[in-house]
Amino acid sequence: MKITRISVYQTDLPLAEPYWLSGGRLKFEALDATFVKLETDAGVTGWGEGTPWGHTYVPAHGPGIRAGIETMAPAILGQDPRRLEALERAMDACLPGHLYAKAPVDFAAWDISGQVQGMSLAAMLGGVEGDPGTRIVSSVSSGTPEEVYARIERFRAQGNRAHSVKVGGNAEADIARIRYLEERRLPEEQILYDVNRAWSRREAMLVMQATAGLGVTFEQPCESLDDIAAVRAVTSAPIAVDESLVTVQDAARVAREGIAEVVDIKLNRVGGLTRARRMRDIALAHGQQIYAMATGCTVMADAEAAALAQSVPESHRLGCWACQDMITVDVAPGRGPRNTGGLLRIGEAPGLGFAPDEDVLGPPLAVYSEG
Ligand code: MG
Repeated sequence: MKITRISVYQTDLPLAEPYWLSGGRLKFEALDATFVKLETDAGVTGWGEGTPWGHTYVPAHGPGIRAGIETMAPAILGQDPRRLEALERAMDACLPGHLYAKAPVDFAAWDISGQVQGMSLAAMLGGVEGDPGTRIVSSVSSGTPEEVYARIERFRAQGNRAHSVKVGGNAEADIARIRYLEERRLPEEQILYDVNRAWSRREAMLVMQATAGLGVTFEQPCESLDDIAAVRAVTSAPIAVDESLVTVQDAARVAREGIAEVVDIKLNRVGGLTRARRMRDIALAHGQQIYAMATGCTVMADAEAAALAQSVPESHRLGCWACQDMITVDVAPGRGPRNTGGLLRIGEAPGLGFAPDEDVLGPPLAVYSEG
């Protein structure tokens, strides 16, 4: 079997409401999504999505995905999509780095592989453990304590009982914000305080020490792994990393050096399921708990992330995301995993289990084929 055609689509995904990253640093209103369709000489077709969380957040660029695929197309065409590592090496040889541009191609190859084997993505990743629904973590935009709490209440109304709240203003305001929200947190409800790299080492130490008795977890408190390691050494609060988790080498370092207790694997950032699976295994081998999420997306990348989450034992699975609930475009109405009472429940159909409506995507921006 070989890949004979690559079609690349672009769609803007407007957010239902404007989003402010931690500290109110960045505001954006739409996501730039790329969809990739791989066709094969066996008549099996696979789909993958690449949607960065805006282009100001981390080094990931919507148009860069399309440019990367244009460069890699000759190396992708002719590959057997079932040989996932060979495809990965072919892309790496053609274009080192640029993992976010490779993710949608990797996802589409997994989709084809699953269809050929008659296995869902989760089954290919090792199987579903327990209920096939993963707890959805709401992404709660930054604001005053009252504004943030109002947003949490709206997510609660959808059934969500886990929230990633963006903090990262000045230290005093963050201490007050965290105390305010913790006083109002429901029993069994989980709040992750996501700093999105906004604190200096000093600010991180101040906030994390002042709130130590509350037992809360902080995500990506500072810019780099060096910064987080320095903070880790002098604070007791659990730490999660996501922006600094890009390569498999990052995952190995975070695990071996004890920099974080939790990894938040963003599938698009790390290059897709092939690499995300390795990070999952490194984390599990080192007693770390795991979130699995896209970087922003429709139901398609939500489904890919939920499949990885379901392959994590329940004891170590913290949650996934439903970015689809934050956008106003649905590329696969009525299909794929949806928010049901705060859970994203995956199906058993082979591969991804569904395809987007090409009418919604519009005509492809580019098509690459052999010959
Ligand atoms: Mg985060």
